[in-house]
Amino acid sequence: MMYITDYHHHTDNSFDSQASMKSVCEEAIKKGINEICFTEHFSVNPKAITYGHMDFKRYFSQIEQCRHLFGQRLKIKVGLELCEPHLLQETYYEQLQGLPLDFILGSVHNIDNQDIRSYMVHKEPEALYQRYFEEVYQLVSNADIDVVAHLDLMKRYAVDVDYLGTYDFHVCKEGLIEIFKKAIERNIGIEINTSGFAKKTLNEPLPSMKVLKLYKELGGEVLTIGSDSHAAATVGYHLDTALDMAKEAGFKYIYTFTSRQPETIKIV
Ligand SMILES: [Zn+2]
Ligand SMILES: [Zn+2]
Repeated sequence: MMYITDYHHHTDNSFDSQASMKSVCEEAIKKGINEICFTEHFSVNPKAITYGHMDFKRYFSQIEQCRHLFGQRLKIKVGLELCEPHLLQETYYEQLQGLPLDFILGSVHNIDNQDIRSYMVHKEPEALYQRYFEEVYQLVSNADIDVVAHLDLMKRYAVDVDYLGTYDFHVCKEGLIEIFKKAIERNIGIEINTSGFAKKTLNEPLPSMKVLKLYKELGGEVLTIGSDSHAAATVGYHLDTALDMAKEAGFKYIYTFTSRQPETIKIV
């Protein structure tokens, strides 16, 4: 039996989720998930919508409680999803210092202090994606993170705008290669984020198979799988699809993290 992990999940410790941690854990156990890592939103930038929501004391005490209640049946890891941690690095360092975190996801949710949904309005698709991937390059070059969250998030929103749509792999390939080379050099992984399957107009993960294969070809090994779920009902969403993808792309392992140290789980 494959050891099943969901390494991207939100609860009401994030500004955009109402889910209680207990309900997510209960549902994860029902679905046969072995390990979950909570990755709540956190930003030190007052201009980001996430700013000011996190109460670390509350978050860590819920983790303790859930480990006490469910620890025999579910391994529970504590993580964060940081907004643009390549910016305001000193503030991030000060605020996260000493916290017992297992795992850190780094995200590009904003460009030039604008959330990407507003940023993309009236942009040319090619220039838009180029700008997005440039920001991701800055992220993997400078931030202290374990894994890049939803590598090509822009497509999730751009796909619904008729003059944008998703990107052409060949047009963005050079930029992606630069990102992957830098990430691999700095031991930063990527995730298969399955939330894209929930969106009919997209119906693919972030990133897609082609991009995942490119990462592997360049020597990428560190890979996590996450539903990016914001509700108990969708914990573990399409994890099986993601595992099949990882296998097909040639990955032998997926990764988990303890105190920010990577460990491998063999894909069977
Ligand atoms: Zn995100
Ligand atoms: Zn997320």
